[in-house]
Amino acid sequence: MQFKDIVGQRDVINRLTEIIDSGRISHAQLLLGAGEDGCLQLALAYLQYLCCEHRQHNHEGELRADSCGECPSCKKIASLMHPDLHLFFPTATTTRVTSNPRCEDFAADFRNFVLEKKALGSLDDWYAYLGIDNKQGMLREADAAAIVQNLAMKSYEGGWKMVVIWMPEKMNLTAANELLKSLEEPSEGSIILLVGESDERLLPTIRSRVQTLRVKSGDRKVESNEEFAGMLVDWLRLLFKLKMKELSAQVDKMASMGREQQKQFLGYALNVMRDCFLKTAAGLPCNLNSGDQKFDAMFPTMVTANNIEMIDVAFNDALFAIERNAYGKIALMELSFRISKALKKR
Ligand SMILES: [Zn+2]
Repeated sequence: MQFKDIVGQRDVINRLTEIIDSGRISHAQLLLGAGEDGCLQLALAYLQYLCCEHRQHNHEGELRADSCGECPSCKKIASLMHPDLHLFFPTATTTRVTSNPRCEDFAADFRNFVLEKKALGSLDDWYAYLGIDNKQGMLREADAAAIVQNLAMKSYEGGWKMVVIWMPEKMNLTAANELLKSLEEPSEGSIILLVGESDERLLPTIRSRVQTLRVKSGDRKVESNEEFAGMLVDWLRLLFKLKMKELSAQVDKMASMGREQQKQFLGYALNVMRDCFLKTAAGLPCNLNSGDQKFDAMFPTMVTANNIEMIDVAFNDALFAIERNAYGKIALMELSFRISKALKKR
């Protein structure tokens, strides 16, 4: 993950690259913010920049610097396969791991989950991915012991030893206590990034040993509406053509956003459709601003009194399904078929 792949957060990113360039790197840092704020993205892009062999410094543009994305180190971190990058996260028993779950049992699952969701997945998304929707995940003593052990070993590649702890608030007390020493006396060349949503449930002793960075969602939301507009038009166009391969790719793109983002997108899309219906019914102009005049003129007339209710119900069903931990892609695919059918009934 490069910083340029992250939506918004320009100020935070510039601060992070400045810290790395200055060499004043804190050995234990806590990044706080909701999943859709891109905290895990920031952590991974931060480590990629830290290890990059050819850091790029821009003299123009919004980002002052970024990793190159092409050196061996960048590639290994981007694919989460760097031997000195260790990921820790809450787990629970599953049908496959029926007792004493540990992060290492789910290492491949977590990697795939992060890559699939572009590091924007929420804790609920992760539980749904593991199929443990009703259980509470946890970071346990065995995980803390593995962190301590990883940090004590020599680095494989001779560079930084990196540990990312995702959702440290899910650490149980024994695990948290076990970890304290590593935070207090960091081993040479090691960096621990804790990526969580709230520090209220973290032990005060942990909080006091880490440097905290709060990530605000402010500027992300503004940009995501522009992102939503483009995504919506691309999706609507495909609903007319119903070419399965293209539609499936578009739905993948939509499903790769975090759960909260998916819900926001559906809310946004439904509002646009209602707006089309109301304005057309009132004889007012309605512009989607898609950049394609023919489509802009045609689409609003497709939403009529004959199908607005079907559309409304389909969106609400999809929102409900996503809220209830359904697999995003399936919910969005079903919605696509229902909207496509509804639009033909105008
Ligand atoms: Zn690089």
